[in-house]
Amino acid sequence: MELTIHKADTQKPLPDDSELTFGTVFTDHMFNMDYDLKNGWHNPRIEPYQPIVMEPSTMVLHYGQSIFEGLKAFKTASGDIRLFRPRENFKRFNRSGHKLCMPPFDEDFALNALKELVKLDRRWVPSTPGTSLYLRPTIIAMDPFVGVRASHTYRFFIIMSPVGAYYKEGFNPVKIWVTDKYVRAVRGGMGEVKTAGNYAASLYAGEEAHRIGYTQVLWLDGVELKYIEEVGSMNIFFVIDDEIITPSLSGSILSGVTRDTVKQLAARWGHPVTERRISIDELIAAHASGKLQEIFGSGTAAVISPVGEFMFKDKVMKVGDGQVGKWSQKFFNAITDIQYGITEDPDGWIEPVC
Ligand SMILES: *Cc1c(COP(=O)(O)O)cnc(C)c1O
Repeated sequence: MELTIHKADTQKPLPDDSELTFGTVFTDHMFNMDYDLKNGWHNPRIEPYQPIVMEPSTMVLHYGQSIFEGLKAFKTASGDIRLFRPRENFKRFNRSGHKLCMPPFDEDFALNALKELVKLDRRWVPSTPGTSLYLRPTIIAMDPFVGVRASHTYRFFIIMSPVGAYYKEGFNPVKIWVTDKYVRAVRGGMGEVKTAGNYAASLYAGEEAHRIGYTQVLWLDGVELKYIEEVGSMNIFFVIDDEIITPSLSGSILSGVTRDTVKQLAARWGHPVTERRISIDELIAAHASGKLQEIFGSGTAAVISPVGEFMFKDKVMKVGDGQVGKWSQKFFNAITDIQYGITEDPDGWIEPVC
């Protein structure tokens, strides 16, 4: 398969680094590739960013057969552009596709196409510290058919958006609401898959959290409503009595690349993360006894997001002294220093683009 490149005739004006938000502005080009039963994946192309024309009967619109990924391109002080562990994203993308009955794609080919796309739109990678180019690979079901089955045709696309800091509050502790009223995913379901429907399923609880003054929802397991799972766009970590704990992957938790990065760094520092089930009761008891030192979320968008307060059943609990915790800061610094080329990359996590 040969990647073709059709360049845009005109270039859009670049937003100012200081005005960047998240996911609102897109670059000049995108990647597209199609799948059908006869040709497999074919016609891979980089072309101007443009609408996808589809019939109203297109399957993705009705039955949600859709998967996506999220990763970033960073610019170093010397102007080099690089990706962070992109192979992990493409591996996970194929795992997600498998669960959604989609055909697998060649991960090396996709990574190369992504690098060509970033290279072509390199002027869009912002350089102010904390900013990056967010990359969004997506695959959607394209059959014009109303009826429930796996589609026979697909579109794989990648769009890119320059982004500023993820949280409006900046690197400040966020407040999370632990709900035992709603669930995000259940055992045997789609929780471990990066698919659109999981996000749709989280909106209603998210709006309730916002109404009562909380930024995010912390989900419990969908069977017993007892064990902590994740935040829905981030995995979660607790520091209790100097032990770093994260919920073990249960099948209903997304296996985050950032989660894995935290685990690997902690192990290297001789302070390994314990992966196990942790119940909301244990968390509340740790808080009551003064042993709960930190809570933080991990995800590509925010990297590390310290949690300053959580609420469960009308009980409000503060974490630490309201400041960013020692471990949150240490992981955030270590990961972003590698991403922006401030420190060495001993594990080969960086994929140079240009
Ligand atoms: C993407 C995502 C995460 C974070 O994964 P990263 O690879 O670290 O960005 C966590 N939970 C859910 C549900 C997600 O979709």
